[in-house]
Amino acid sequence: FRHPAPPAATTASICCYCGTGCGVRVHTEGGRVTGVSGDASHPSSLGKLCSKGRALADTVRDDGARVLRAQWRDSRAAPRRDIALDAALDLAADRLADIIGRHGPDAVAFYLSGQLLTEDYAVFNKLARGLVGTNNIDTNSRLCMSSAVAGYKLTLGADAPPACYDDIGLADTVLIAGSNAAHAHPILFRRLEAAKQARPDMRIILVDPRRTDTAELADLHLPILPGSDVALFHAMLHVMQDEGLLDHAHIARHTTGFAALRERIAACPPALAQDICGVPAADIATAARWFGRAGAALSLYTMGLNQSSSGTAKNAALIHLHLATGQIGKPGAGPFSLTGQPNAMGGREAGGMATLLPGHRDPADAGHRAEVAALWGVEQLPVRPGLPALEMFEALHDGRIKAIWIAATNPAQSLPDQARVRAALARAELVIVQEAYTGGETLDYADLVLPAATWPEKEGTVTNSERRISRVRAAIVAPGDARSDWRLAAGVAQRLAARIAPARAALFAYPDEAAVFAEHAASTAGRDLDYSALTYRILDELGPQQWPYRPGQPPSRRLYADGIYATADGRARFVAVDHAPVAEPVTADYPLRLTTGRLRDHWHSLARTALSPSLVRHVEAPWLSLHPDDMRELGVAEDALAVLRSRRGEVVLPARADASLRRGQAWLPMHWGSAFMAGDGINALTNPARDPVSRQPELKHCAIAVTPAALP
Ligand code: SF4
Repeated sequence: FRHPAPPAATTASICCYCGTGCGVRVHTEGGRVTGVSGDASHPSSLGKLCSKGRALADTVRDDGARVLRAQWRDSRAAPRRDIALDAALDLAADRLADIIGRHGPDAVAFYLSGQLLTEDYAVFNKLARGLVGTNNIDTNSRLCMSSAVAGYKLTLGADAPPACYDDIGLADTVLIAGSNAAHAHPILFRRLEAAKQARPDMRIILVDPRRTDTAELADLHLPILPGSDVALFHAMLHVMQDEGLLDHAHIARHTTGFAALRERIAACPPALAQDICGVPAADIATAARWFGRAGAALSLYTMGLNQSSSGTAKNAALIHLHLATGQIGKPGAGPFSLTGQPNAMGGREAGGMATLLPGHRDPADAGHRAEVAALWGVEQLPVRPGLPALEMFEALHDGRIKAIWIAATNPAQSLPDQARVRAALARAELVIVQEAYTGGETLDYADLVLPAATWPEKEGTVTNSERRISRVRAAIVAPGDARSDWRLAAGVAQRLAARIAPARAALFAYPDEAAVFAEHAASTAGRDLDYSALTYRILDELGPQQWPYRPGQPPSRRLYADGIYATADGRARFVAVDHAPVAEPVTADYPLRLTTGRLRDHWHSLARTALSPSLVRHVEAPWLSLHPDDMRELGVAEDALAVLRSRRGEVVLPARADASLRRGQAWLPMHWGSAFMAGDGINALTNPARDPVSRQPELKHCAIAVTPAALP
């Protein structure tokens, strides 16, 4: 740990909310945070902060809102009691060793979070794969970016967003798909607003079922039916092909697979896509022309594409637009996924997912496993595939997994089909919850609670959406017994090693975060993301750096400028994807399409933003948005309570008319769980159906029925 900050100090760090990764300056006095301001020297945010970033100081607490001590309960019937941290780490090691001994390593699972720092991910990953011997390690990034990962790998050959934030100011056409950037990535949206103001002829196209605040900046809003993006993108390519807007030289020199895709494009004219997508064919043609004729076309996209049972296909279909027009690898151009969480990127780099190994390696590849085993100093890594998030909780439910260690995330609120997730947690033999805040529903299921440090008490690194690695720095000392997540993981690992593999205890004896980072950075050597030459000292002296890192590199870079992609033959791939309907179409019993989304001033399941009076004032409670005609037809009055039912659960909320929604479309903010609202939370309704490749669930769509609530 660093020593307490001097009486008055300013520490440069990173905002802990979205993947924009804005630089902050944390002002402290007497060891307490007195304020937070933007860091003008940070190249990603240039001193700007949104309402959440500006309110960060409100969330720094050492009172009842924080988990300050380790807790344990001897049985589910008993209340938890405070215990010493050392005793808690011993208990974790004892219980895990016992379960591994009785049921094998795959009876243990780790469920992590894009809130964790790269160093946290690195140590947890080594603990799961290098000590316990299981690939059952996944993260809430599975709910967030796994379809983007799969889309990049399928088409470009690597999980590497090609563009950088500077491209927002250089684009002639910006296609925003499935993103309410005005709320979810506000500082990136400010860049877009500034670019549009400077160049009013810039064309902005928004693809979103709702007319969001982002739509106010758009020149063209395509209010697409949920799930129909592939048909839309195919139809745009159809128009571009008909009108000679494709870059056949780029297709011929730098890609493969276009012939197979061409058949699908030919079969998807705008007139057909109009019926599938619910937007006029003329608007689809306009979007295609603006994209195809642009000097530089940039796409910004996020959960609307990713949180879908066809999320991988949607990502691939959008990337096709760029590959077919040569709009990639040049200023102002490229497909650019916007990461939801502050370090979903770093988690991917550290291989903290069932489907990844460190350095963007593949656990199914024996050579990759051997490379990581050698780096870590273990004989081998486990072969049996690990379970992604939803499968992990299903295995917990049916008893194949006995113990789960959850860190910095709240699956009892955030996973779809919440009732089943809670039943799984209730059935588990051992639930360890490593958490900083007391507000999460998952704590109710914890047998053992480990008190975690949080922003701004931790040292480490994060990677933002533009592949930029920044230092996170501790400005104050963590309260109570709270410790950095990697230290808790390493503490248990050393104790567990003593019980099951004593020679491996030394593998977790890191003196500090810099040592963890050095080991992790070494794992990237020779890989697409290579930042093996990067150190804390370089980050401290030169500031945040993009990967791949080369000493002396310019401040912002885009990938694939040389037309060579990360595939075996150096060519990008068109993938013959088809439109597939949503997993749960509407029926007479469930006639409304429900989608969920973020609010500007809240974050995830509210554990932190609910602590800020200024953020809570913006929106205090959830509501259901419906088209006014639907409300009339359903007999639901403005602000009256309505009962929402899906095939999985029921929620009661006040209803509000929203004429910008299309008929049949309902919308809910995603943030509220049972800890902050009466009854079950929003995800009691949502659907666990998932994409066959990315295994990401379809949080953006399920079928519901709405009726007026009976009067008491
Ligand atoms: Fe924080 Fe994102 Fe707002 Fe930047 S845009 S201040 S990273 S929440």
